[in-house]
Amino acid sequence: MALTHPVALPLPADPLTLPAHPDPLTDRLHASGLLHELAHGLDGPFHYLLPERFDANLAAFRAALADSGVDGRVYYAKKANKASVFVERCAEAGAGVDVASLGELRDALGHGVRGEDLVVTGPAKSEQLLRVAVRQGSLIAVDAPDELDRLLGLDTGRPARILLRRLPPNQPRSRFGLDDAQLDRALRTCADAGGRVRMEGFSFHLSGYDTRPRADLAGELIELCLGARSLGLPADRISIGGGFAVDYVDAAAWDTFLTEQRPGHYHGDKTFAAGDFYPYHSPVAGADALRAVLAARPGGTGPALAERLRQAGVTLLLEPGRALLDRAGSSVFRVQGVKDRAGYGIVTVDGTSLSLSEQWFNSEYLPEPQLLPAPASGSAPGAGTETAGPYPACVGGASCLDSDLLTWRKVPFPARPRVGDLLVYPNSAGYQMDSNESPFHELPLPPKVVVDRPGDGAGHRWRLDR
Ligand SMILES: *Cc1c(COP(=O)(O)O)cnc(C)c1O
Repeated sequence: MALTHPVALPLPADPLTLPAHPDPLTDRLHASGLLHELAHGLDGPFHYLLPERFDANLAAFRAALADSGVDGRVYYAKKANKASVFVERCAEAGAGVDVASLGELRDALGHGVRGEDLVVTGPAKSEQLLRVAVRQGSLIAVDAPDELDRLLGLDTGRPARILLRRLPPNQPRSRFGLDDAQLDRALRTCADAGGRVRMEGFSFHLSGYDTRPRADLAGELIELCLGARSLGLPADRISIGGGFAVDYVDAAAWDTFLTEQRPGHYHGDKTFAAGDFYPYHSPVAGADALRAVLAARPGGTGPALAERLRQAGVTLLLEPGRALLDRAGSSVFRVQGVKDRAGYGIVTVDGTSLSLSEQWFNSEYLPEPQLLPAPASGSAPGAGTETAGPYPACVGGASCLDSDLLTWRKVPFPARPRVGDLLVYPNSAGYQMDSNESPFHELPLPPKVVVDRPGDGAGHRWRLDR
């Protein structure tokens, strides 16, 4: 029987395309054949990680601190990716790590990060976590009055190093942090606790990615430090948390997407509101966002934040997660089947949307997957007969759930994908690849492959992350 798939699927009148920013390094890696080799050897989906990108992002944050003359420290927010290699890079570079569970703390220590270089965040930390953190000399961001009481009751023989986490006045519905009255009482408790506690300052972590509110609240925290010092507390540092945006896609494509996207662009006419999406384009991102925070004048008046920090002798701590992982990894799936629907196709891959977490927040990871055709093989059925030209398709997972789609959007692929081709979801290291992974259906978790010297032709080296 002749091959019957339709050769010219009509495109929606205005296919929306959202490619990730060009990346010559990963282009060279993709052209090298390594990913096909790994897909064959690992026989399933996998993620690749580029630690050199993490190093460069970390260096950029440090340069922003140095250029503004601010004494500061970067703590990598580990929850953004479970891989060990990034923690190893922190240990190597003398950077800190932000952990929020005993497992994360153990992993950081086990990969060489010193206890005193950890900051422990998260709500209502378990007694075991608090005990280990105090013994290790880690900095603990206290989130609630009862947590402070539990810390003081531990009796480990060592002072607990703490920050008091501030409930953001402009995000009063947040479940995190201490309000004004609770901060007041906590400060008096610390002053009365003598050597059992070392109150080193204050912290916050804001939702959203604007730089202005971060500078404003940082300014308030400096004032809080000055007040705390008058009670005899050290209060010489503040943490402004994470939330440094990542810029994934081009401004024009993003604007067009936000104004034009409608249910017809998605499988099943699914509806997404523009506000459901991460802001995939951000004009100020990463270390530049830190520069903007440091240059802003808290409250809109007086000296810039950098100057205020210097004047007050306050050290600036930051906890970027996503921004340190920018372009430091991608997720690779193998095409397992392709079928046609009216006007578009459904590509099914050998993994699930649990390896692309955005789906689990009623949203969609929009930087679109790149199609890497399988190396030409003369005996492949249908070889050479495929249509060229865009082929719009959504991407489904290999599970029995109707809602298991990695991409609901009808992505305009350059050609009809074929079984054995690879789909590479770009720039997925920050939160996408593993935060929601599960061995659902007895499917193995996609392994992580660390690639060193990725653009170096056959000179690249790879190993599994352990
Ligand atoms: C999640 C988190 C971060 C990291 O946020 P990013 O948006 O990834 O930079 C930092 N600090 C705290 C307390 C967090 O909960």
